[in-house]
Amino acid sequence: MPSSEAPLREVDPEIADLIAHEETRQHDKLRLIPSENYAYPAVMEAAGSVLNNKYSEGYAGRRYYEGQEYVDGVEKLAIERLKTLFGAEHANVQPYSGSPANLAVYFAFCQPHDTVMGLSLDAGGHLTHGHKVSISGKYFDSVQYGVREDDHRIDFDQLAKLAKEHRPKVLFAGTTAYPRVVEFAKFAEIARDVGAILVADISHISGLVAGGVHPTPIGHAEVTTSTTHKTFRGPRGGMILCDKKHKKAIDRAVFPGLQGGPHNGTTAGIATAAKLATTDDFKAYAKAVVDNAKVLAEGLLSAGIDLVTGGTDNHLILCDLSSKDVPGKVAAQALDRAGIVCNYNSVPFDTRKPFDPSGIRLGTPAMTARGMGAGEMKKLAAWMAEVIGDVENEKRIATIAQDVKAMCDGFPAPGVPTH
Ligand SMILES: *Cc1c(COP(=O)(O)O)cnc(C)c1O
Repeated sequence: MPSSEAPLREVDPEIADLIAHEETRQHDKLRLIPSENYAYPAVMEAAGSVLNNKYSEGYAGRRYYEGQEYVDGVEKLAIERLKTLFGAEHANVQPYSGSPANLAVYFAFCQPHDTVMGLSLDAGGHLTHGHKVSISGKYFDSVQYGVREDDHRIDFDQLAKLAKEHRPKVLFAGTTAYPRVVEFAKFAEIARDVGAILVADISHISGLVAGGVHPTPIGHAEVTTSTTHKTFRGPRGGMILCDKKHKKAIDRAVFPGLQGGPHNGTTAGIATAAKLATTDDFKAYAKAVVDNAKVLAEGLLSAGIDLVTGGTDNHLILCDLSSKDVPGKVAAQALDRAGIVCNYNSVPFDTRKPFDPSGIRLGTPAMTARGMGAGEMKKLAAWMAEVIGDVENEKRIATIAQDVKAMCDGFPAPGVPTH
């Protein structure tokens, strides 16, 4: 046994090997899962720092442990930068991730069995927006709205009707599989009419909002939650932005209501990501994410693949393979063998089961982080159409995997060592 202070490779070669393989995978494959990205190298450095070693229950200036002279500075910077970046009156950067951020919001405003509303999972919502298997659907009286049958856009008529009837305490506006702009102003009007607190969950799109390519919820939603590791390219974490009047309730709900000590390394990574998000480079990145998604969507459409809502406004594309006679899972697995990594996903009004649905979900944040552009998107669309058209042609799939690898070699993945 090497010294316990030796580097990872010596102390634990099994884990070091698995991480090295994951590094190679993240380099060699086209990663199209829309919630994933490449965090900035500086963010990874901050998140993996000695801040991991510090306990800091409480908030800056009001901690339950001594020795906070530097950690307080880190948390204050993260908060101030997010407030400036998003134009928010208050920010809480302690939620461990997106789901705990949402749970803290419920805890801040709701009693058990209060009514809450969110977009249903099969229409593109998130589990934490009141799905029946989630604590948000079990501990609260959850009412779910959906999308329209004809164009698969959010059904504001149904939403307004349900809101009037059920008068929710909180109304969630946010999506995980919705390729269109979320119209926060329309949500705000409905929430105002029924006295609900509007919560915008921008987990997927916070980088697009920060980069100015998706409308902001700030000014419409009293509370905004987000992950920090999706389009935002920060560390794995969560944040809550809110109006001043909700500061106390939100801060108390996060700590001591829901969590213990904040993950200070993560907080530092959020601060660094918020700084990077103010740059022209980041604005160009956010725009390229959306431009790339449009090119990929056009390529897929012209290759005969149906898209939910017929296209995209954001980073995400939902393919409906019903007309192809290929289940989403079979297509996703064949694509993975070709080096194209996505996930199978329900489409609105899916006739198949959630674990074996009709669609696949794609996103451009990670590919765009590598600097790939329109040319690469066109090639990708053609490869995808080929694989989906013939999921058992292992010979062709193997040659596409080689072409994918060659393309990846031309675009080093940020922060990913090569072996
Ligand atoms: C990803 C996501 C979450 C959950 O985030 P985790 O970090 O996975 O807990 C919550 N809401 C939405 C809309 C999301 O897309």
